[in-house]
Amino acid sequence: MNDKILICEDEENIVSFLKTELEFEGFAVEVAQDGAEAMAKFSAEFSLVLLDIMLPEKNGLECLREIRKTSNVPVIILTARKEVYDKVAFLTAGADDYVTKPFDTMELIARIKRHILRQKTAAQSPVPSGDLYINADAYRAEISGKDLHLTKTEFEILRYLHNNSGKVKTREEIIGAVFGDFYGESNIVDANVKNIRAKIARVSQAQIIETVRGKGYVIHHA
Ligand code: CA
Repeated sequence: MNDKILICEDEENIVSFLKTELEFEGFAVEVAQDGAEAMAKFSAEFSLVLLDIMLPEKNGLECLREIRKTSNVPVIILTARKEVYDKVAFLTAGADDYVTKPFDTMELIARIKRHILRQKTAAQSPVPSGDLYINADAYRAEISGKDLHLTKTEFEILRYLHNNSGKVKTREEIIGAVFGDFYGESNIVDANVKNIRAKIARVSQAQIIETVRGKGYVIHHA
């Protein structure tokens, strides 16, 4: 079955252009022209969401937060160059990527394919190790069977470190792996690691993530 994409965008010329291009690439496309419509149409059957920031009725950030209550679907933010917005808020809310309008269509399509593939690959690889169990399919991280209740961003960081056990990863490497080209301040990593540690501390004494001063973070082999 074709992957289905939800375009949430109120600029009609962008919508019709994007719809044509994506359908040409073999995607099934659904369009919502305001935030309320987007939330009414959103369901688990979508493989990816393209989300404009400045939407009528409900803005992009509100929509993203609502989507993240029930879903880890990849979300790419569409933003106009002149729009001033809080990137950290979008990152924290669980955006996967962003593109600036006017965007290069081929590049956007490449990113869409990459995110959909990454989501599918992640779903196939649960990686148990020691006390920590990463269930990529359910986006769940557990210690001794207890769910850590991580946000998507926290989960991605923990999974990345876990998949690279024994290797020290810099903040820049973590940002690159987790946020892609989504520009992020390196302190976004520190803030998330702090949250992950606090959530681990609720269920275990284990020091899972070690800080390597001046370098980054590492999870040691179990
Ligand atoms: Ca708009």
